[in-house]
Amino acid sequence: MAKKALGKTARMPSVKRALTKARQGKAAQVKAPPKRAKKRDLADAKAEAGVTPPMSAAQIEEAFRRFQAAEPEPKTELKYVNPFTLLVAVVLSAQATDAGVNKATPALFAMADTPEKMAALGEDRIRDLVKTIGLFRTKAKNVAALAHILVEQHGGQVPRSREALGALPGVGRKTANVVLNTAFGEETFAVDTHIFRVGNRTGMATGKNPLEVEAKLEKVVPGPYRRHAHHWLILHGRYTCVARKPLCERCIIADLCQWPGKTVL
Ligand code: SF4
Repeated sequence: MAKKALGKTARMPSVKRALTKARQGKAAQVKAPPKRAKKRDLADAKAEAGVTPPMSAAQIEEAFRRFQAAEPEPKTELKYVNPFTLLVAVVLSAQATDAGVNKATPALFAMADTPEKMAALGEDRIRDLVKTIGLFRTKAKNVAALAHILVEQHGGQVPRSREALGALPGVGRKTANVVLNTAFGEETFAVDTHIFRVGNRTGMATGKNPLEVEAKLEKVVPGPYRRHAHHWLILHGRYTCVARKPLCERCIIADLCQWPGKTVL
């Protein structure tokens, strides 16, 4: 998540330029801001309930064309050096920021960048090294346990299978999808809070829970964009379509977005 990352991804430096190009002089018409946050929350709730009109296939294709123009090779912001350290970084990033994880992991990975070394390091030492990250006790326990399992059951390799990854301690569907996508180039959609929000708001992939949104993305994301769709949507949700006050005025897909709560026409 290079500027490395995938639970969370690298900032789009060229977004402004791409935005300008995408819009080609068509300045967004700004709507009057909602009087209360309640209106936005209500619009989000409606979106999650599937009330937001769906984006058409052509609109979805155009949205990804613009995302790609803005950032052709999106990356995760998490620091890692191989599939194993990516797996550990993603496990550590649950309910924590990438920046916070990145502060702790260089020292950890300098001592243990393979399952064998991590297993040898042991839970207590791992805990000391990640104690600045939220839920560090549980996470240290999971990292130590998953390292042992990788050594004992997978020959010290990170498995390239959602099922095998999901069987590891601290690894859920989202983490498995991140690893499959970022480490192995699989066309998976790891639906985190950002993708959930963007999918629902825009009408690209609505759903009451991450699994529903993931299933819709599987259906609607066009072939050429499937590999990086996950990162583009995370970036969009993290830096533009933010939860509290979406930056609709600088959104490169504002004219395609179906969300009634957007602040531009
Ligand atoms: S127009 Fe606003 S609500 Fe819609 S995708 Fe862009 S930032 Fe999000």
